[in-house]
Order: sequence, then C-alpha cells, then structure tokens
Amino acid sequence: MADTARDKADLIVIGAGLAGLATTAFAVESGLKTVQISLTAGEMPFASGLLDLLGIHPMERLNRWQDPWAGITALIHDRPKHPYARLGLEKIRQAWKEFLVFLQKAGLRYCGWPESNAELVTCAGTLKITNQVPETMWPGVLGLKEKRTALIVDFEGLNNFSAVQFVETIGSHWPALRAQRLRFPYPLKGVDRQTVFMAEALRSPQGRSRLADVISPFLKDAELVGMPAILGLRRPQAVASDLERQIGVPVFEIPTMPPSVPGLRLKEAIEQELLRGGAVLVRGRRALKVNSNGRRCISVELEAGLAKETLKARGIVLATGRFLGGGLAASRSCIRETLMDLPVHQPKKRQDWHRQHFLDPHGHPVNRAGLEVDDLLRPLAADGHCAYENLFVAGSLLAHQDWVRMKCGAGLAITTAYGAVQAFIDCSR
Ligand SMILES: Cc1cc2nc3c(=O)[nH]c(=O)nc-3n(C[C@H](O)[C@H](O)[C@H](O)COP(=O)(O)OP(=O)(O)OC[C@H]3O[C@@H](n4cnc5c(N)ncnc54)[C@H](O)[C@@H]3O)c2cc1C
Repeated sequence: MADTARDKADLIVIGAGLAGLATTAFAVESGLKTVQISLTAGEMPFASGLLDLLGIHPMERLNRWQDPWAGITALIHDRPKHPYARLGLEKIRQAWKEFLVFLQKAGLRYCGWPESNAELVTCAGTLKITNQVPETMWPGVLGLKEKRTALIVDFEGLNNFSAVQFVETIGSHWPALRAQRLRFPYPLKGVDRQTVFMAEALRSPQGRSRLADVISPFLKDAELVGMPAILGLRRPQAVASDLERQIGVPVFEIPTMPPSVPGLRLKEAIEQELLRGGAVLVRGRRALKVNSNGRRCISVELEAGLAKETLKARGIVLATGRFLGGGLAASRSCIRETLMDLPVHQPKKRQDWHRQHFLDPHGHPVNRAGLEVDDLLRPLAADGHCAYENLFVAGSLLAHQDWVRMKCGAGLAITTAYGAVQAFIDCSR
C-alpha cells in the first residue's frame, strides 16, 4: 500500500483556527504532505471574517495606523519580542500576499488597499480599522468613506443586530443612513444560529427573490442597502450579485456577533481548498501527546475512541490557540500550555494578570501570556534554548502580543503560520 500523508507526513499541524488553517495552506502550497488535527473549529465561528493586519500601536496611546506597514515597522522597532519582530517586515508582506492569493483560489474574494488600512462599521455601530474585507462588505467601506445614502435593515426576531442602534451610534460619522426593520421571508427558528439559518435560506434563488421583495418597497433614495452578514455560507458574491440585480442598488454585509457567517464561510472555503490540495484533515480528535526522541519530535498520539492512534511526521506546528481554543489553561495559580507542558511566559503572580480597570489602555498582562519562541518560531524550554529542533508555533498561542487591542488577529495567525512553515523547510535542508 502506498504511503499516505496520514501514515507518514512531512508536517503535522495541531489546531484548525485561522493559524492552523493558514499553516496547512502554506505547507500544502509548498508541496509538503500535511496532516492537520483539531478538536474544534477554534475561534473561526466567532471571527468576523475581517483580516486585521495591524491597526493600533502603541496600544496605551491608542495610536491608529492608516498605513499598516509603517505601523509594523514601528512595532518591530519598539517591541523586539512581538512575533512580528521575529518574522521581519519582508516575511510578513510575503505571507500576506500569498495568503490572499490562496483565498482567491479558494473562491473567497477580499478587498483592501495594498498600502492602507480600511475602516468599516461594526454591528454595534462603532468604527473598526482592518486591512482586508470580504468583498460582500466592501460597498459598506466605500459607502462610509463617501457618506452615501444607505438603508440599513434588520429583521424581526433576529436578536444580535439592531439597525436602529447601528444608525444612531454611527450617526455623526455617517449621517445619510436610515434604519428599517423587516420580516425575514422565512420564519426564524429558535434563538441560536439565526444568521446561519438565514444564510442557508438565501442559497436558493427563491429565497433571494423573496428577500428582494421584502426590501424593495423601503428603498426610496437609498444608494446602498446594508444588512447583517447573511449572504450565504458559500459563494457569497453570487448571492450578493443576485440580490443587487433584483433590488437595483449594491448591498453590503455588516459583521455580526457569533455565530458569524463570514467566519464559518472562511473556514469552509479554506478547508475545501486544503482538501483539493491533498491535505489530510483530521477533525473532532484531540492530540493527547507529542512523542520525542531527544530533541526531535517524532509523532503525535491522537484520541481514537477508547484506543489511540499515532501519526508520524518530520515536523510539528502547534497552533492550539489560547484559552478558548484550548492551547492554554488557567488554574488558580498559573497558566499552563496544555499539550506538552511547555513553559508559558506569564506574570509572576495571579494578582498581576489583570489591571484594575477593564478598559485600561495598557491592556491586561494575561493577554500577552503565551509561548516564547526563537527566531525560527520554535518554543523555548526552561533553559531558554529551543525545546525541540522541529517543533514550531503559530498564532495566538505566542507570547508578547495582544491581538485584540492591537487589531492584528488574522495578521498574527497568517504571518506566523508562514514563518513556521518556512522555518520547517529551512530546518529540513
Ligand atoms: C469574537 C472574535 C472576533 C474576531 N474578530 C476578528 C477580526 O475582526 N479580525 C481579525 O483579524 N481577527 C479576528 N479574530 C481573531 C482570529 O480569528 C484569530 O485568528 C484567532 O483568534 C486566532 O486563532 P488561532 O488559530 O491562533 O487559535 P484558535 O482559533 O483558538 O484555534 C485553536 C485550535 O487548536 C485546537 N486545539 C487545541 N488543543 C488541541 C489538542 N490538544 N488537540 C487537537 N486540537 C487542539 C482547537 O480545537 C482549535 O482548532 C476574532 C476572534 C474572535 C474570537
């Protein structure tokens, strides 16, 4: 029987949040036999679908960067331990470019300006700085910039988006908005997964026609229609075009609270492309242990019902996330890395995890806890040297970053994924 990637992989990636998905994408594109293992979908069902690169630095001054590359250059200079500083500007640029090409191949189109961040309005009506925006949200970015007249709609029974709140909160920045509550053409089931259900309903041409019929009478002078992100779990551009053709003006999606259709869409599109590229995706299984031989990792033991399965590889990337993803766990006294018990950079005492004020602009030290790495993104052992020659880290598990406050979530995941794969390739030579 021929060797499959599952029998003997080049690389095993543990985690299927954005960091794990991006690592697998870069590995497959580099021709590596790759197995990706995950227990859950990580933060993907929560994520907005926006790809932040760097919005804020330094966070204590809430300094916003219109040019993310200038911001990253400043960050690398000021914070040499930040994962971006480990990578350097050129690798970050390359990773970003290659990932956007990969997404296009996967059928998801993103929009943005190469040298500038974009601004859009969140579901709460607040402004958000980001870098790459799903094409279905882009008319909202341009509408805000040009202060176009827009109709913002929400739906009876939808409990996580209010058009009135959106319009009133953003009012001074975008005055030409009007809110309208509509009845979604199909009854909303329960209170969970409402946006997912709506997205499913818009898969059919009939669903889209019925929604267009509900919206059209309220259009009046509107040049645009904004609505919660429900334009299909797959092929959202086609759903948007069909609605636009029937309504007569561009429509745009507004990112919603979880579960997030654009986050699920991103996950689904990437996974389909990974399967086409030959990756083996092992889902719903926990990695229990990484076996090593001296300073080299050799295999990963996986849950397999009551038994275990062992997968071998030449290298391993840990993309197991933080507390939500399961890569870190907090006890009353300390923070632990859950799979290999690697040393975690963290405040000395639990009292120092949080500052007194929740919104303190310095952020909370606990959010910068994580794994310290060398320049090849290999985790450090207690002696300060790399723990294993062929073990790498990608994503939010890394120390010395606060992606929420710095607006660099996807950037961190994608660029460190690229860095980890490149480092594996370099170390294998
Ligand atoms: C509410 C929310 C909104 C966001 N909005 C944005 C945004 O607007 N812009 C932006 O750029 N980013 C945003 N992000 C962040 C973005 O999704 C990040 O990329 C993400 O937080 C980091 O992902 P990660 O892959 O490092 O970890 P996670 O997504 O947490 O993934 C960890 C993975 O590891 C797996 N795992 C852990 N331990 C094991 C084990 N032992 N065995 C097997 N599998 C294991 C988990 O099952 C999971 O698949 C948002 C995130 C959230 C939560």
